[in-house]
Amino acid sequence: MNASCEQVNGLLAVKAAIAAAEDDAGRPVGAVTLVAVSKTHDADTIRPTLDAGQRVFGENRVQEAEGKWPALRADFPDLELHLIGPLQSNKAREAVALFDVIESVDRPKIAQALAEEMTRQGRHPACLVQINTGLEEQKAGIAPQQADAFIASCRALGLSIIGLMCIPPVDENPAPHFALLREIARRNGLTVLSMGMSGDYQTAIALGATHVRVGTAIFGSRPKPLAE
Ligand SMILES: *Cc1c(COP(=O)(O)O)cnc(C)c1O
Repeated sequence: MNASCEQVNGLLAVKAAIAAAEDDAGRPVGAVTLVAVSKTHDADTIRPTLDAGQRVFGENRVQEAEGKWPALRADFPDLELHLIGPLQSNKAREAVALFDVIESVDRPKIAQALAEEMTRQGRHPACLVQINTGLEEQKAGIAPQQADAFIASCRALGLSIIGLMCIPPVDENPAPHFALLREIARRNGLTVLSMGMSGDYQTAIALGATHVRVGTAIFGSRPKPLAE
């Protein structure tokens, strides 16, 4: 089998598993959007999945994404690019210019920088607030008890907040974290829930995920240093 077939096989397998999980949960076909996480993989690896019809992708580093996506977008103008990793405020300009959805709004300084850049560029990517559901020291995101106030402050800045994102602690049952994210979204009138990765996206779909971010199950394993 040639290498370019493997990620397409991975893509088709994940799409089938998503459809099955939607069905098991009694959710409509197509309720869940697959964000194919292509971080660390080059354009030649990504392209076959575009040829196979995948259009929504996630990257966690602005600079890496800038190196490969403009050329791919020239060929596939309808693709949708999500930033899923922490953003530095000195990269807000590039992020606003390149991404369609910013899933990692995780602190006041970044919300402010994004709002200023969007006004300056007249370009308004949709935003998700990242919630640190496990209150992990090393992990980005807003503490659950500060979520409501932070979402309100982002809205006051003019950001288009459409939903929430979380990354549960690796060594815990993710289900309570997904349920918590859903509850915070519900009480804030938000409909988009980005939750679930290669290891737990079926669980996330059962708990209401509208977007799952899947990398390894499509593209295979990544070199260690960049894995998250
Ligand atoms: C890398 C990454 C993913 C994908 O993880 P896999 O386990 O490879 O599916 C999802 N979300 C975020 C925020 C990531 O950084």
